[in-house]
Amino acid sequence: MNFRYKLMQFMSGRYGPDKLMYATLGISVCLAFVNLFVRAFGGFKAYLIIQLFVYAFLALTLFRFFSRNISKRARENEKFRNALAFAKRRRELYNQRKADECHVYRKCPRCKATLRLPHRLGKHKTVCPRCNTEFTVKVKK
Ligand SMILES: [Zn+2]
Repeated sequence: MNFRYKLMQFMSGRYGPDKLMYATLGISVCLAFVNLFVRAFGGFKAYLIIQLFVYAFLALTLFRFFSRNISKRARENEKFRNALAFAKRRRELYNQRKADECHVYRKCPRCKATLRLPHRLGKHKTVCPRCNTEFTVKVKK
């Protein structure tokens, strides 16, 4: 039996790498790198705490990689990917609104709908088209 075959046998039925695994590994490596500077310039206590997180993320990475509960790990990865996609959409929306200089975006205090209002300086009264609540909008700059 060669090593490659043994490794394949060992890994069969185990989860292996995914996007979340690379993320936890990346966090662990980044924290370890930051900790080099903390150790050199910061306090020893802070170093120990960060080192604990480094090992925690590393343990999580290894645990998920060798886990036999494949469906559960796949669900975790799916949640992680959804969270990433959500964050990306939020960032795009934020950039889009920032680029739109002719309008301001405000939430209705009652129904929480986001309203796109003309960019006029000062205090104005507006009516939410969804729930007909009148509220005051302040626009600075
Ligand atoms: Zn409303």
